[in-house]
Amino acid sequence: MMRAAVLDQDGSFTVREWPEPGQPGPGEALVAPVRVGICGSDAHFVIDGSAKTDYQPIVLGHEAAGTVVALGPDTDGPAPGTRVALIPLVTCQECDRCRAGRSVLCLRRQCLGAEREGAFADRILLPARNLTPIPDGLSWELAAVGTDSVATAYHAVVARGGAKPGSRVVVWGTGGLGLSAVGIARAVGASEVIAVDLREDARQWALETGADAAYHPDEALERIGGRMDVALEFVGRASTVEGAVRSLDDGGRAVVVGIGHEPAAAGRLITFVMRERELVGSYGNEPEDVREVLELLASGKLVLPRVVGDVIPLADVPAGVQRVHEGKTGGSRIVVDVTA
Ligand SMILES: [Zn+2]
Ligand SMILES: [Zn+2]
Repeated sequence: MMRAAVLDQDGSFTVREWPEPGQPGPGEALVAPVRVGICGSDAHFVIDGSAKTDYQPIVLGHEAAGTVVALGPDTDGPAPGTRVALIPLVTCQECDRCRAGRSVLCLRRQCLGAEREGAFADRILLPARNLTPIPDGLSWELAAVGTDSVATAYHAVVARGGAKPGSRVVVWGTGGLGLSAVGIARAVGASEVIAVDLREDARQWALETGADAAYHPDEALERIGGRMDVALEFVGRASTVEGAVRSLDDGGRAVVVGIGHEPAAAGRLITFVMRERELVGSYGNEPEDVREVLELLASGKLVLPRVVGDVIPLADVPAGVQRVHEGKTGGSRIVVDVTA
């Protein structure tokens, strides 16, 4: 038996004894998780029920870094003992989407700790192709958060938003993932990075992460006008989606990452159409996003002073998930030390 943080059918979430996953088969790897971040999705699964795991009981945890314990027979992958980051989405590599290089949209995708066993545990079994070595000098904590929260922001800013050197970027919502987007925009060479958030502390964190200016949404459009090349929306509300679109220059692109249930509009159509603005969604990340984030973090080009918050032992995961639900994380990720 091993220790694991398990969500049960009755909705209880506890750290308890759980069967070890067994030995890896062909193509698989057995990994000992070392650090695993607590994601907002974990709070949705455990507390508010706004997202569901595929089955219960299930081990949660999908933002992980650890050490390779064993590879299956005839399996290519990082050798036992290697420090690795765990790419959270297990994809089929066979469907049209995978073949088109859009594995985030895989028809048979399974996320660790949601559709298959997760990483809040002493051991996890997963495809060896989901492992990527951690660059030298990068901390366990940054490697873990690099697989999900930072990579999801990177996917939005770079892959979906197309931000590049000289881009003018505005980030709506900097209390969570959007804070990483501020640092990423800076790291890829944006000439101007503006933050917008209701909360003064979130505006302050954005300035600490490299934003040139930070505004309350009530004054944002007046201050920045329609002159941004890329607008990122991390809130998931109709008003901020419209604000993001209206902050765009001609030909600019707004990327919505925030998930919500309100119908959203893109402002007056005559403006949207004649100025050739774009509005796209962005969800999760691709393996390439994770690898690029780890390299940027290791090289020191991407500096995210607030992304790693408290580090807590495995036994405290349920309390950590509660804190995430209450928003008591100071804009940072709570990271679990699975070895403690
Ligand atoms: Zn997540
Ligand atoms: Zn697929």
